[in-house]
Amino acid sequence: MKKCLNCGFDNKNENAFCCSCGSTDFSEPFGTNDIAAPAQPVPIMPPPPPISAPRPSEPKKPFGFFDVLTILGFVASLVGMICIWVVLEPLAVISSLLGFLKGSRSKGIAAAGIVIAVIAFIIRLFFSLYDNNVIGKWAVEGIFR
Ligand SMILES: [Zn+2]
Repeated sequence: MKKCLNCGFDNKNENAFCCSCGSTDFSEPFGTNDIAAPAQPVPIMPPPPPISAPRPSEPKKPFGFFDVLTILGFVASLVGMICIWVVLEPLAVISSLLGFLKGSRSKGIAAAGIVIAVIAFIIRLFFSLYDNNVIGKWAVEGIFR
């Protein structure tokens, strides 16, 4: 349909003149003659992949203070197994823990440093107590026999 702009009569689309007043001024066609395709349900698009999502890509982050601490803690945990464990292993636990919590890189090393330091500390403490007869001989023999 198209509406006559002169009198408002609704004419067929193919009409060259208004059936009511003869005018040739019509509105744009509308209504039943141009049956629009029924509204298609909009296909649910998967959300577009984030363009610049900050990925936790390790290499791009700066090597910060706590990462250095992580490395130092890891080294301390290893060295502490050999000497001055009383000082080094607790330091290793602390620095590795800080590195694990606050560092942006090398969390694996930090976790390893914590585990190594704790285990080394317990073992050295155990043998130290044993050497000083705090722990009885039965304890060691019970474990290693
Ligand atoms: Zn008309």
